[in-house]
Amino acid sequence: MKLVLVGPQGSGKGTQAKLLAAKLGIAHVSTGDLLRGAQGELKKEVEEVINSGKLVPDELMLDVLKERLKGGDCKEGFILDGFPRNVRQAEMLSSVTEVDKYIEIAISDEEAVRRLGGRVACEKCGAGFNTVTMPPKQEGICDKCGGKLVQRADDTEEAIRARLKTYHEETEPILEKYEHVKVNGEKSVEEVQEEILKVLGK
Ligand code: AMP
Repeated sequence: MKLVLVGPQGSGKGTQAKLLAAKLGIAHVSTGDLLRGAQGELKKEVEEVINSGKLVPDELMLDVLKERLKGGDCKEGFILDGFPRNVRQAEMLSSVTEVDKYIEIAISDEEAVRRLGGRVACEKCGAGFNTVTMPPKQEGICDKCGGKLVQRADDTEEAIRARLKTYHEETEPILEKYEHVKVNGEKSVEEVQEEILKVLGK
């Protein structure tokens, strides 16, 4: 199964994608994670763009994605989280693979800002928490490995606003062009997951 999750930052795409990938036995492909994990030349090229809240160039992003989709874990399918981010990327995606379903996870801007302001991740194992919606058992400490929880460099209020603007201007138009199902992302993690599984007939 080949799925695409579309939604603003803070809509829970990453959280839902991880759960779905485990449940369906397919790969979770987050282009943001791929870029943040970049090394060498690529790291230098993308770091500044990411921290400003802007998008990295489409061609570069597609090259990184194509490499990732060759991974053995993508054989049974994948969930794309963070790609496509604009209509051009959606067209590029159609030229490299078919997609079974586009799923929109919808939340308001106010909710996105509220959630992103509280988002933290473990610097050791990458596990995500949210001081507002999904707090760790002990403040600042990862439940899973005991590592330190830190805010992402692009989760400053200024960068969050820039990313939401980019979402409305560039990403949302994809939803006008591609048939998709819409789920309400303001419900709990479990409820959103259930709704997605329902639309997938699982
Ligand atoms: P995310 O983790 O999805 O919020 O992505 C973090 C940052 O990575 C974004 O703000 C962009 O700078 C970059 N990025 C992620 N996915 C894409 C994409 N499909 N196209 C361009 N830039 C991207």
